[in-house]
Amino acid sequence: MEALQKQEEKTKKEAVWSGTMSSGGRLHLSLYFKNLSEEEIVRELAGGIASVSKKMLADGYIPQGARLMSSRDIAEKFGSSRQYWEKLLREGKLPYCQTAAGRITADLWVTGYLRNREEVDQYVKWQKIAVKRILESSPSKYATCPKCGETKLSASINRSEINGVCRAECGFEFTSAVPESESK
Ligand SMILES: [Zn+2]
Repeated sequence: MEALQKQEEKTKKEAVWSGTMSSGGRLHLSLYFKNLSEEEIVRELAGGIASVSKKMLADGYIPQGARLMSSRDIAEKFGSSRQYWEKLLREGKLPYCQTAAGRITADLWVTGYLRNREEVDQYVKWQKIAVKRILESSPSKYATCPKCGETKLSASINRSEINGVCRAECGFEFTSAVPESESK
């Protein structure tokens, strides 16, 4: 019996991997495989890399091949006026990076917005309400979630950023800059 257990232990398959990302976007993968065939290792690896890149995209990392654009570039490529796009950037409906040359976004955010305009508008509305409620409520208490209405919205605030998530698991979460008037 013991010998059989030892034998099982020897041939037990194990696959462990973990990925961490630096803020600069560098991915570090740690891998550990035991008793896996080459084919199984490749499959584990491919699955791992696919889920890490999915997570990176969800976290807002910009994929290779994305085109960086100013409001002028967007107007040229997608039509509408430069002012129209400037307004969307200002309202936070298109994520952007503030540079000396103005606000820069990426083409994928613009196409994403055009495809899901109503959803983005709704989300930005919820986010505004959430930020207000978080700032008004005491830090130790939950605020009311604008999406599901449950009093389960929690947030952490550092000097310049608010990260909020609804603990009722309605899927609402956000990261927002602390409004100018509130930041110290
Ligand atoms: Zn909720």
